[in-house]
Amino acid sequence: MDWNTPVTKIKGVGEVTAKRFKNLGVETAGELLRHFPKGYEEYQMPIPCNRVRPDSLVSVELTLVKSPKMFKKGRFEILSAEGKDHTGYVELVWFNQPYLKQKLVLGKHLIFRGKITKEYGKLKMTQPEIYEKEKYLPMLRCLRPIYSLTAGLNQKTVQKSVEAVLTSIDVPDLVPQGIRREYKLMKLSEAYRAIHFPEDSDITKEAIRRLAFDEFFTFLLTMRGLKSAMAVVPNCHVLKKHELSDRVRASFPFELTEGQQTAMKDIFHDLSGCTPMNRLLQGDVGSGKTAVAILSLVAMVENGSQGVLMAPTEVLAQQHFQSISELLIPFGIRVGLLVGSMTASQKREMRKMAETGDVDIVIGTHALFQDEVHFHKLGLAIVDEQHRFGVKQREQLASKGESVHVLIMSATPIPRTLAVMLYGDMDLTILSELPKNRIPIKSCLVDPSYHPTAYRFLKKHIQAGEQAYVICPMVEDSETVEAENVVEYTEKLRAALAGIPSENGSDSEREPVVEYVHGKLSAAEKNARMTAFSEGKIDILVSTTVVEVGINVPNATVIMIENAERFGLSSLHQLRGRVGRGSLQSYCILVQGKESEETKERLGALVKSNDGFFLAEEDLRLRGPGDFFGIRQSGDMDFAIADIVRDKEMLVNAKQAVEHLSEEECERLTQELVAIQGVSMVY
Ligand code: ADP
Ligand code: MG
Repeated sequence: MDWNTPVTKIKGVGEVTAKRFKNLGVETAGELLRHFPKGYEEYQMPIPCNRVRPDSLVSVELTLVKSPKMFKKGRFEILSAEGKDHTGYVELVWFNQPYLKQKLVLGKHLIFRGKITKEYGKLKMTQPEIYEKEKYLPMLRCLRPIYSLTAGLNQKTVQKSVEAVLTSIDVPDLVPQGIRREYKLMKLSEAYRAIHFPEDSDITKEAIRRLAFDEFFTFLLTMRGLKSAMAVVPNCHVLKKHELSDRVRASFPFELTEGQQTAMKDIFHDLSGCTPMNRLLQGDVGSGKTAVAILSLVAMVENGSQGVLMAPTEVLAQQHFQSISELLIPFGIRVGLLVGSMTASQKREMRKMAETGDVDIVIGTHALFQDEVHFHKLGLAIVDEQHRFGVKQREQLASKGESVHVLIMSATPIPRTLAVMLYGDMDLTILSELPKNRIPIKSCLVDPSYHPTAYRFLKKHIQAGEQAYVICPMVEDSETVEAENVVEYTEKLRAALAGIPSENGSDSEREPVVEYVHGKLSAAEKNARMTAFSEGKIDILVSTTVVEVGINVPNATVIMIENAERFGLSSLHQLRGRVGRGSLQSYCILVQGKESEETKERLGALVKSNDGFFLAEEDLRLRGPGDFFGIRQSGDMDFAIADIVRDKEMLVNAKQAVEHLSEEECERLTQELVAIQGVSMVY
C-alpha cells in the first residue's frame, strides 16, 4: 500500500464505505491519514453521582438496582434500567439496542459512560457505553481520536481504517534526514501514528510539531520553486498604457484609498517589468480589493491580453460578474462567466469565446482551470480569497497561457513578520486602511442568558428590512454530525423568533425566513440558498463556518456568533466582515458559551477593535504555543494541521531549512512533492 492507493484497497472498506469517505474528501490511503482527528476523547475516573455536572460527559460506577425493562415507543425500542452508587440514583436509557439487555444483570457492578442530564431532579444517562471495571481502568488517560464524519460513517469505521493503513503503508518522507536531525523532528510515520492514536499528550505535541513542519516546509519549497521558475520567464504581456483603466477608475463613485493607489502603482510596475507578476495583495475584509482587481484586469485588456478572476464560490463569482459587467460594458469591455452550474451548452459557448478571444475578462470558479478551457491570449489571472491555490492549479494555469501574471488576493491579515516569512518569495502589497466612509461595526460580547434579547434584536432588524447571519455553535458530542446540529438550531431559532411579538404590534408583519447552509449540502443546494440570501429572499442565514460565507450582501447588518470562544480572533474578524458592507450601521453579537479570563481578554479585543492587523498581532500575543486543538483558525491560511500562530517556531525552522537547500536539492524535492499527491496543496 502506498500514499495513492485507493481506499477501497483498505481492509474492511467496500464500495459503500468508500463513497462515504469520498464525501469527506478522502479517496486514497494518504488522504485518509491526512484526515486528522478534530480532537480527542479522554476516559476519566468514574465520579460519584452527586458530583456530576448535568449536560456533561461523565463516567459513573453503578450497581444495577432494577431489572432492565424493554418497551416500544413509536419507531423506538427502548431499554431502561436504574443504577445507584452510595450518593444517588441514575436512570439509564438506550434506543434500539435490545441486545444490551443481557449485560444488565440485577445487582451487577458496572461503569457507564455518557452524557448525563437532570430532569425533574433526577439524573438520567442516555445511550451510555457500558464497561466492566477491569476493562475500563486500563483505558484511563488514553486518548481516543474524534473525526469529523458524514452520514453513514461512524468513529469506529474511521479508526479501524486508519489503523489498517498505518500498519501497511510506507509513509513517504520528503524532509531530508539531516534536516530532521537538526530540528529534532520525529519520524513521519511515527507522527502519523501519534496523531491518530496518541499514547500521551506529549507525544502528540511532538507529532503536531513534525506535521506542521512538513506543511510549512512543502509550502515554502513550492514558493521557492515558483519564484525561480518565474524569474527565468520573460514577460509576454507587457503593460504599455493604462488610459482605459484610468477612465474606469474615474467612473467609480469614490476616490481610491491611499492603499488602493499604492497597490495599483505596484501592480502596474510589475505588469510592465521583465518577468511575470507574482504578487500577493493582502487587505482586510472590506478594504476594496475588488476595485484593484478590476483596474488591473482592464489595464491588461487594453494592452491586448485577456484576464480571469477566480472566486472561491459560485455565488461570489456570480456577484462579481454582475457588478463588473455592469461597470465595464459601457467601456466596450466584454465580460463572461464560467461556473459549474451553467448548462453544458452555456459552458461550451463561453469556452469558445475564451478561445477565440471574443471575451476579454472571464469570471468564474475553479472551473476556469479545467482541461477543456483554453484562452486566446491569457495575460493575467487574479485569484480572490482562495485558500488553496496549489502547485497543481499553478501548473494548470501555466498551461492556459504564456507567462501569465498572477495576483492573489487574501483577506487574512496576518502579522507582517509571519507574512514575510510565508510569502517572502512573492511580492507583497498590504491594504491597511478601510475606505473612509465606512461606519464601524458595533460589537458586543454576551453570555447565553442574553439570547432572548438577541433574538428580539434580530427580529427588529429583519422587520426593518435588513438581513442577518447566525453562526451556529459547534458540536461537542463526538457522534453527532455537525449538519444535524445546524438544522436543529435553525428550528429552535425559528420557534424563538415566532414567539416574539412584532415591534409595532401589527400582526400583518411576516415572520422572518430562516434558512441554513452546512458543508453536507450539495453544491447546487448551497448555491441556491446563498443566492436566495443575497437576493433578499432569506432573512436569516444560519451556517457553520465550514461553509464559505464569502458573499457580499450589503443589506446584512447583524451577525451573531455562537460559542465565539471556540474561534481564533482572525476567524471571528473574518466572520464579522460579512456585515458592515453597506451604508447601514451593522452589529456583531459574540455569544460566549464558556467563561474564562483568557477568552474574555481575547474576545474583548474584538469588541475594542475593528482592525484586522491589530487583531492578528493580539492573537499572536494572547495565544501561546500551548493550546493545540479547539480553536478554529481562519480559513484563508488553511493548513491541515499547522497553525501559523501556534506553530510559529516550526515556521521559522522550515523557512531556514528551505533557504539552506541547494538549487538541485530544491528541484529534486519539488519533483518528489508533486509525485506524492495530496501533500502539494499550497499556493
Ligand atoms: P474586499 O477587500 O473585502 O474584497 P470589496 O472589494 O468587496 O472589499 O469592497 C467592499 C465595498 O467597498 C464595496 O462595496 C466597494 O464598492 C467599496 N469600496 C471599494 N473601494 C472604495 C473606496 N476607495 N471608497 C469607498 N468605497 C469603496
Ligand atoms: Mg472581496
